[in-house]
Amino acid sequence: MNYSLFIDFDYTITTDDVGNRFYTYFSQGKNEPLVKRWLNREITTHECLTKEAGLCRGTREEFIEYIERFEIDTGFPELVRLCAEANIPLYVLSDGLDFYIRHILGKYGINEINIYSNIAVFNNGFLEIELPHWTEECASCGNCKGERIRQLRRKDDRVIYVGDGLSDLCGAREADLIFAKDDLAKFLEQEDREYIEYENLFEVRDKLIGILNSARNKGAASRG
Ligand SMILES: [Mg+2]
Ligand SMILES: [Zn+2]
Repeated sequence: MNYSLFIDFDYTITTDDVGNRFYTYFSQGKNEPLVKRWLNREITTHECLTKEAGLCRGTREEFIEYIERFEIDTGFPELVRLCAEANIPLYVLSDGLDFYIRHILGKYGINEINIYSNIAVFNNGFLEIELPHWTEECASCGNCKGERIRQLRRKDDRVIYVGDGLSDLCGAREADLIFAKDDLAKFLEQEDREYIEYENLFEVRDKLIGILNSARNKGAASRG
């Protein structure tokens, strides 16, 4: 059995929603009505993110200094290690921004990792964002995680998804096994979709070890 694992960044790998805190801080809270409308699904992620970025003022140095405070779930390096040992491709799928994802992961020595995200462009005190993965196929996402999974998965993979929010919904719908917390868990319940609830990534790692062991045992039994 082949597996691939897709994981969100903000408040899934990190212990806080870096993107939301970032836009709120650098727009001095002016982004908040946009986020409310987005959560009510009145505006798309594309519209929400580009408008939030448009409200932000600060230099590259100020942006980097601000994100220094954020930390990752210390179970994440363990999950990365397990996936490497078990030959499970791991992809970070995010509607957040490349610079803070790489900076925060780099702080923990995690540099060799597949990341699909949006891109920040620093422009003389203004912030612009590029959404290189955006397509018309999905009206709601900036970087549709469902589409990324359809592109990246191998045909026979069992797809594992780990996330926490609305931007994870398309990704979770593509998965065979979903680990969810917070808003994502609520949205999945509205759709009557099964998921495994988790609080931290150590739990995800431990469950995954159990799944791999039982798949291995079954494989051994069926070979007699
Ligand atoms: Mg998230
Ligand atoms: Zn989508």
